[in-house]
Amino acid sequence: PFTVIADLVREHARQRPEHPALADNAQTLSYAALNSLMDRVAAALQREGLQPGDAIAICAASSVRYAALYLGALRAGVVVAPIAPSVTRDNFDAMLRDAGAQWLFVDRHAAELIPDGLPGSRVIWLDDKLRGTPFAAWLAPDGSRPAPVEVQPEWPFNIIYSSGTTGTPKGIVQSHGMRWAHVRRGLSYGYSPESRTLLSTPLYSNTTLVVFFPTIAFGGCVRLMAKFDAARYAAIAAEQRTTHTMLVPVQYQRLMALPNFDSFDLSAFQVKFCTSAPFHAALKADVVKRWPGGLVEFYGMTEGGGTCILNAHEHPDKLHTVGQCASGHDMRLIDEAGQELPEGATGEVVGHSPGMMTGYHGRPDQTREAEWFDASGKRFIRTGDVGRFDTDGFLVLMDRRKDMIISGGFNVYPSDLEALLRQHPAVVDVAVVGVPSEQWGETPVAFVVRAADAAASEAELTGWHNERSGKTQRLSGLVFMDELPRSAIGKVLKRELRDQFAAQNA
Ligand code: ATP
Ligand code: MG
Repeated sequence: PFTVIADLVREHARQRPEHPALADNAQTLSYAALNSLMDRVAAALQREGLQPGDAIAICAASSVRYAALYLGALRAGVVVAPIAPSVTRDNFDAMLRDAGAQWLFVDRHAAELIPDGLPGSRVIWLDDKLRGTPFAAWLAPDGSRPAPVEVQPEWPFNIIYSSGTTGTPKGIVQSHGMRWAHVRRGLSYGYSPESRTLLSTPLYSNTTLVVFFPTIAFGGCVRLMAKFDAARYAAIAAEQRTTHTMLVPVQYQRLMALPNFDSFDLSAFQVKFCTSAPFHAALKADVVKRWPGGLVEFYGMTEGGGTCILNAHEHPDKLHTVGQCASGHDMRLIDEAGQELPEGATGEVVGHSPGMMTGYHGRPDQTREAEWFDASGKRFIRTGDVGRFDTDGFLVLMDRRKDMIISGGFNVYPSDLEALLRQHPAVVDVAVVGVPSEQWGETPVAFVVRAADAAASEAELTGWHNERSGKTQRLSGLVFMDELPRSAIGKVLKRELRDQFAAQNA
């Protein structure tokens, strides 16, 4: 029969009841305690009449309770729809409706989203706030056992909302089978009961889940940080003797910038993962050099349409790429008209994987737009990212299609300009976007975060850049910022930069 992550927890609880499974700031749960909490969750959901395939929504910061609720729901075959507490009220309502969730589990981070409770829904407070129903009171009594549910691989596991970097977040249904494929990939990364994983990205993001579930499936311990802080992260990693982690590029950047980074004992690390956003080569090199253990970058999307993997510690000459297509996956490039491109060409990446989504939840039109079929009828998902494969089959990722600039009829890749600007010692962080231009259609403008002690002016930096670049790539503007706008998962929000520029120049 099909193996289910929730069943593995029961097995770990039998074999090593006292072994730690989950920890946060406030508490540590052993496998025995996690298993019994999952039973109480599953039994409570069944008591409320939830059937396999029904969804619950969770809108809270990461915590032991959040994770145990997630795993407990899976045991009952109930689908989890995690929602970021940082979403707007409109997106929140849209996601709840989309998931069809009658039950909502929240903590104080979601309080502003539901000022008057939520008519028509049941709200349970994970942090036992003195308002509404507290989680502890809602749980089935200690020792409860839920009716066994035989989960099938094609059953929905969770509904994850895409990051909304390019528009409204889209609901993506991931199946138990797809999750299991991620767990199996974990075999290559040395997960075991001795694994100690530190996660500071939120539980609602797929980025976190690709490391969370394998750690639990293999019987390791996950330490959750509700909020990232570089100094605290490094201190906890040293104390926990962390073996596995997932961080997004901006978190690596903050960590490497800590003045005392090299004084932390991080020698237990086996693998550090990274995904979600462009990770520039110089930063990868710095991480490989100063941080023990391997550095593995994933390029992929929540939709599951194919993954590229870069073992950065093994390929010092490929750090400007996102690696090679994962085994069993297939990635191709297509042009604007949807024609497949020959080797060496630059185009939109499309990907096929064994566990890709069947479609966006309740959005058949957007699903059709995202699909691409090759001549044999094999189904791929369009990533919206533009790149090219080098002669060794490593993917050089350029930009999201929506961020590309067309200036005087030429394609300008913001990533090329960003890479050049990053070589200037005064530039700490940079994002280039296209803004409307009467003469050229669009023209590039750079948003730059300057090093604290740097004196270079806007005009100097613009001049330095433009001397070194082709005519169509020349910047028509450069704006200093204290920080680039980023999503909670560390993606630069180029939409916001374009809007901000338009508002200032209206
Ligand atoms: P939306 O689809 O709602 O606009 P999103 O695409 O940001 O949001 P995700 O599924 O979280 O939502 O992210 C997938 C995207 O993240 C990819 O299409 C790619 O643009 C970017 N990405 C993922 N991994 C990497 C990586 N290693 N390097 C650069 N970019 C990456
Ligand atoms: Mg996307």
